[in-house]
Amino acid sequence: MQQPYLSLYQSGVLAQRVQEAYQMLEGCRVCPRNCGVNRLKGEQGFCQSGLLPVVSSCNSHHGEEPPISGCRGSGTIFLANCNLRCVFCQNYPISQLGVGNEVTVEELAGMMLKLQKKGCHNINFVTPTHFTPQILHAIELAVRDGLNIPLLWNTNGYESVEMLRLLDGVISIYLPDAKYINPQMAQKYSNAPLDYPEVNLSALKEMWRQTGSLIVDEQGIAQKGMIIRHLVLPEGIAGTKQVLKMLAQEISKNVHISLMSQYFPANKAASYPSINRRITKQEYDDALKWLEQEGLCEGWIQPYCEEE
Ligand code: SF4
Repeated sequence: MQQPYLSLYQSGVLAQRVQEAYQMLEGCRVCPRNCGVNRLKGEQGFCQSGLLPVVSSCNSHHGEEPPISGCRGSGTIFLANCNLRCVFCQNYPISQLGVGNEVTVEELAGMMLKLQKKGCHNINFVTPTHFTPQILHAIELAVRDGLNIPLLWNTNGYESVEMLRLLDGVISIYLPDAKYINPQMAQKYSNAPLDYPEVNLSALKEMWRQTGSLIVDEQGIAQKGMIIRHLVLPEGIAGTKQVLKMLAQEISKNVHISLMSQYFPANKAASYPSINRRITKQEYDDALKWLEQEGLCEGWIQPYCEEE
């Protein structure tokens, strides 16, 4: 199946979008923090990222949601640094300490092609937001050289709509977080600006406008659409009940939700008594009950992949 980004490449629209995206690096407004630093000259803002993308790992990954990992794996490219700073982040050496290597956009394009050659079902950009222009440029180069599998944007959901519009028709599958309903909780536990819930909702609406609900192929592998992830936190800190209500009302009852139970205290969580434990079975059961009450979709058909 031909990917939609091919026609954007052939018409020159993708190249224009790369230029537009790069302009946002000068006086950086790549994400809603709008730090204003000149990343074209290597200056760094909140995300501690300059001009070159930093990649922590590039692998076939089997631990994502079943329609994403399938049986041949999701081609995961893990970007270092982040525009949030969650005190409980399980990947903090990558997201907060910047563990990874600077690569050129040509090298980043080569990674995508390598993952495609390995047979991965998709290319999965993890924590990509602060490197959107560079990733878009690398995609352009990879498409020129034969990239033709779905692209997936695996994000914390603190994204600018202006930037997301440049990904329209390029990214086939969005995998965003909806982390909090309460701005103070977002600020306290993720060091997010107080506009997190509002900005997050606008971003989710734009992603939904672009892709709509999840479409899988005959083997159950995602081809297009959106799955919203919500991590249930202890003591109701994520506002799970209200988040699910908001998603049902403001996005759609047809949007797929990945309700995550795997929270454990990592990074600096030990300094915050409320989140210094796993969630209880009761807390997760309540979350499942609210999901059902809102009539939201969870679950998918287990993919069936023929041997290749
Ligand atoms: S991408 Fe980084 S530098 Fe740019 S606005 Fe966001 S946090 Fe600031």
